[in-house]
Amino acid sequence: FQAIEACVAEGRRASQAEEEPVVVVSRPADPDPLGDKLAHILLVEDHEVNRLVATRMLEAEGYRVSHASNGQEALDILAEARFDLVLMDVQMPEMDGLTATRLQRERERALGVHTPILALTAHALKGDRERCLEAGMDDYVTKPIRKEALVGSVEAALDVYEKRVSS
Ligand code: MN
Repeated sequence: FQAIEACVAEGRRASQAEEEPVVVVSRPADPDPLGDKLAHILLVEDHEVNRLVATRMLEAEGYRVSHASNGQEALDILAEARFDLVLMDVQMPEMDGLTATRLQRERERALGVHTPILALTAHALKGDRERCLEAGMDDYVTKPIRKEALVGSVEAALDVYEKRVSS
């Protein structure tokens, strides 16, 4: 049994070593469980547990997920790489999600592109939706995150975006 354990540990080390040093922080265990969902999502969230929970939900659906932990970090990453969608926490240290979204939208106006941005908001307060949309977000998901709501909103936003691009 110990020999088997050793083999498993060895296998894990080998597969870790093979991962390329790119921006992508984590990958789905099954790279393509549902066939067509290969979208790359940037998850911007300062709370580690929320980040982990949302990442697991998205990866289980076959999405690729990269991370940023505040608005400034997100802007830096978005300046370097293209994502199919951004999930943006509203309350974060250094730069909040609303500010980061406004700055990203300004940048995109000059480039003539539009990355879907969905807010992750802790309080479904009256007016929160308006504030998110006013900042340039496409929609929002309330926390605590429920998988059905998260995946549903992500799918809807990707769908709308694809239709807009192809028309
Ligand atoms: Mn937060």
